[in-house]
Amino acid sequence: MMIKACVICGKEFQNYHPQAVSCSSAECRHELKKRQCRRHYAANSERVNARIRQYVSNNREKVRKRAKAHYEATRDQVSTRSRAYYAENRERLLRQQAERRISNHDQIIERERSWREANRERIKKQRHEHAVAHREEKRKYNREYSAANRERIRQQQRDRREAKREEHDAYQREYAKKNRERINARSREYDRQKRLAFRALKELGLLSTVGE
Ligand SMILES: [Zn+2]
Repeated sequence: MMIKACVICGKEFQNYHPQAVSCSSAECRHELKKRQCRRHYAANSERVNARIRQYVSNNREKVRKRAKAHYEATRDQVSTRSRAYYAENRERLLRQQAERRISNHDQIIERERSWREANRERIKKQRHEHAVAHREEKRKYNREYSAANRERIRQQQRDRREAKREEHDAYQREYAKKNRERINARSREYDRQKRLAFRALKELGLLSTVGE
């Protein structure tokens, strides 16, 4: 047993264990443990990460369940804290995110692609539910947006049409060819209605000649 200075708070203490380096206060013991963990991780991060990955892939269901339970138990606390943290560090976090995206670009794109691939059905369902839930809102927004930007949108459409005129003409020719029957039927029906209307007018004596 000897007197030492605590490596955390600096106060002197009597060590009952020869290897003790911190005093016995809860704060110092906690802080010491944290520092040791950090040091250990810094020196062995590759090995530790490999072991974690291994554990997660062996216990996927268990890990997922536990993470979900933890998330649900601490949701409010965590979201308050992370909102505050985000507000305080917004600039730095955004910059970090951008840098990370740039330096891991291909990897991130690939990961997102494979995630979308794996969750295609779920994404589709969610998107549909969201669209249904926000339909009115969305319509209102669209109306307001197009009213506010009418001229710009029209100009854009004109420019686009101009740029794609050839393509557009070809598309229209193709469309007419494909839908010839339908278009012809519609125009026959239009003519028929017009004839009937003229006949009715004539029978009522409102028209002297039938303009067929
Ligand atoms: Zn201490």
